[in-house]
Amino acid sequence: MKVNNVETINKVGEKVLLKGWVNSIRKMGKIVFIDLRDKSGLLQIVLVPQEMDKASVELMSNIKPEYVLAIEGEVQARGDKQINKDLATGTVEILGKSLKILSESLTPPFEIDNEERQANEELRLKYRYLDLRHERMKNNLIKRHKVIQFCRNYLSDRDFTEVQTPVLTKSSPEGARDYLVPSRVHKGKFFALPQAPQQYKQLLMVAGLERYYQVAPCFRDEDARADRSPGEFYQLDMEMSFTDQNELLELVEEMFTAMIKEIFPEKKMVTPWPRITHEEAMSKYKSDKPDLRKNKEDKDELAFAWIIDFPLFTDQTKEDEEFVGAKGKWAPSHNMFTRPKEEDLKYLDKDPSKVKAYQHDLVLNGFEVGGGALRIYDAKVQEKVFDLIGFDKKQKEYFKHLLEAFSYGVPPHGGIAPGIDRLLATILGEKSIKEVIAFPLTSDARDPLMGAPAEVTKEQLKELGIKK
Ligand code: ASP
Repeated sequence: MKVNNVETINKVGEKVLLKGWVNSIRKMGKIVFIDLRDKSGLLQIVLVPQEMDKASVELMSNIKPEYVLAIEGEVQARGDKQINKDLATGTVEILGKSLKILSESLTPPFEIDNEERQANEELRLKYRYLDLRHERMKNNLIKRHKVIQFCRNYLSDRDFTEVQTPVLTKSSPEGARDYLVPSRVHKGKFFALPQAPQQYKQLLMVAGLERYYQVAPCFRDEDARADRSPGEFYQLDMEMSFTDQNELLELVEEMFTAMIKEIFPEKKMVTPWPRITHEEAMSKYKSDKPDLRKNKEDKDELAFAWIIDFPLFTDQTKEDEEFVGAKGKWAPSHNMFTRPKEEDLKYLDKDPSKVKAYQHDLVLNGFEVGGGALRIYDAKVQEKVFDLIGFDKKQKEYFKHLLEAFSYGVPPHGGIAPGIDRLLATILGEKSIKEVIAFPLTSDARDPLMGAPAEVTKEQLKELGIKK
């Protein structure tokens, strides 16, 4: 049975079978040194012809980088001078006895180990499966898995239920453009991929689930921006009934604090996280996502903060980003379901700019890593908000089902959706969220590996009723 490379450190003197990729190969006269790579890490193999069977000796000269090998050999302790402290397996090496080539490899289009390959996004994404062989990239995916696993356990232990909401749905207007999917059965009609499971999670609260979460794919057809990956991203989407803002913020703060302590023990942060009103953030830091790190050079410093008491609306005429769907002067500063503060309801008619909301953004090192709110659960207030953001009759019609659901006994509820990609990239100090996504799109929304998006045949378009 295959032994993982790192397991060999406890098997000195034993015979082991190893399988993995040739990370590098050095020939010194008749002796060949191979750094064998598997998921667990690198391991040095020494091939000395006198120690090996004849068939294996013949294969030795054929080995090239990225070939996949099976090697049987003996684990030996390295002499004091040969110990390599940079390697998890640096105290041992394997004296090869027999060798099999499981598969060959072409010369890769870039050196796997060389970080410089990052210069070319196109090439990295076209050969993503090679790019992911790089240790940093592999580790990022493993960390991502651990973060998600931690949060799943944490929430599950606290009576949250994970529910999968539909991907083929009608748009949840979160301010961006929708990806549309034509329906073949109902020609001329379209599904939309959800920008967020917002309406479904609110409906789950009406249904009585009380505590919901989901590792949820979200789809937004946004224009390219340096700090984003267009297309799809993942949120840790959460919603709770019978809650208040404080309970929500405390839950998320405790969960992430515990998660970071366990998965990223080298990181330092100030707790409790400061809670800063939007007004204070803007006057003090000129930003609603201030970077509160004391030393921006310290890669292990994490500075979380909550930004609260946002204005319910932004003045669209003054924003450079459009809230798709809001036609009036006022656009929701988070989304149209956000609950205004009770004491400000009186301003809804007179001066909407004065209305503050139960909105909370989570900020980390100058990035927004999550947002959420308590929700409106009074149909009259919801109507009023729709009016203020300039919804016409047809647009209002669109939300009929939600208001209808609210007329059957809606619990007060609220939630939040931290962005998994952004949170992880920021904790890891990665420049782009693409470094923590297995198969991201290019900055201009293409997948060079699959060749997506792609044209489809005339027959497909005909079948969908899009072309005659
Ligand atoms: N649906 C919101 C978003 O995607 C999050 C929330 O309000 O819970 O930003």
